Amino acid sequence: MIQKLEGLKTTLWSGLVVTLVIVATLALQEYWFAKINFIEQVLFGLFAIGIVFSAQFTRSRFTLLISLCFGYYLISKNIISGQIFLEKNPQWLYLTTLFLLAYFTFIKDRSIFSIHGFFRLIGIVLCIVLAKLWLLAMMWSENFLVQEKISIINIDLLVINFPLFIISFVLLLKSLRQPNLLVSSLLTTLILGNLVYNHQISLPTSIVFSLLVVQYIVVVVIDSYYLAYRDELTNLPSRRALNQYALSLGRKYSVAMLDIDHFKKFNDTYGHDIGDQVLKLVAAKLSMVKGGGRIFRYGGEEFTAIFPRKSTDEAVEELEKIRQAVADYKITIRHPLRKTKKSRKGNQSDSSKKVSVTISIGVAIREPKSTFEHTIKQADLALYKAKKKGRNKVCI
Ligand code: GH3
Ligand code: MG
Ligand code: MG
Repeated sequence: MIQKLEGLKTTLWSGLVVTLVIVATLALQEYWFAKINFIEQVLFGLFAIGIVFSAQFTRSRFTLLISLCFGYYLISKNIISGQIFLEKNPQWLYLTTLFLLAYFTFIKDRSIFSIHGFFRLIGIVLCIVLAKLWLLAMMWSENFLVQEKISIINIDLLVINFPLFIISFVLLLKSLRQPNLLVSSLLTTLILGNLVYNHQISLPTSIVFSLLVVQYIVVVVIDSYYLAYRDELTNLPSRRALNQYALSLGRKYSVAMLDIDHFKKFNDTYGHDIGDQVLKLVAAKLSMVKGGGRIFRYGGEEFTAIFPRKSTDEAVEELEKIRQAVADYKITIRHPLRKTKKSRKGNQSDSSKKVSVTISIGVAIREPKSTFEHTIKQADLALYKAKKKGRNKVCI
């Protein structure tokens, strides 16, 4: 249960949005072709914004990627020399791009104005060298096969397709495993690059780079929003989002405080990592609350539910369902034993275990002239009551 495809939604959304943008770009060719000179001017601004913006938010992979795109663009437009060299070595350039995308998938976003920046540059140079070595190795293999008159392998097909297949697979897997917009955008870059390289779509370089840089800027913006307003572990809106949301609430609403029972003991028994996984799964269950309720992670193993325009009775009805759903939820945890020889031989009984947790809930309605903070306190008092009554209860 732990190794789910948690990034599936992010990958599908990124794929869908980028596909729609490309289709729209192709459909509106006449419109932007008339403005191509303007777009070329704007692109310089986009490069500058992209580099500064991503560096500011320490998204150094984008800073490097946009800088490399900028360098390529300047060469391709003959603003700096090297155009002929690029035109003569399309395979080398394409392979380098593939290796760079794979490299950026695995490194972390560390400040480039530090020793890490130097290591990143070495990494980029290594990608360039590796691409050349691969091409030389393939050329050597082809000569060898011709000399030996072996014709079962078509080296020409392997040169690009083999690394393309491996790197696409790795990026796809990485993108599906964890919701990470940055990795998803590297995957869409690879797909767009492949379409352009194989002439499956023909777009001017300035349009391709405009699309890419805008995509990177949007990803940095969304990522920063998530960083501020989303809880990283549970992916629920954070306490900051709760405080923000409270400002837009009307006069009538109910607040519930939810707390996992004996969670300290749970951590002590199964370890903090398993505790984290359970917290995540419980959060996913809580987020299914109906009746217009919105769930936030308040902190630790505590959550808050807000029911705008609902009385406590209406809120309790929904909260009872969610309390029951959590109590009935049999969570399969993979015990560390699964890595032992014994479990690898097929003995699964020791390797996984079913556990369950319960939650206690306190509910309060906003009283006339009362503040949000006061209502939270009232819900907290009700929660304390639920704990005292024996836990796994909803109290008003
Ligand atoms: P009670 O039923 O009274 O709520 O007991 P409790 O043990 O749940 O309450 P207590 O406040 O004593 O302990 C809360 C525990 O929740 C302490 C900490 O180990 C655990 N916890 C808080 N945040 C996290 C987290 O992010 N991950 C994990 N794994 N554990 C957490
Ligand atoms: Mg607590
Ligand atoms: Mg607790």
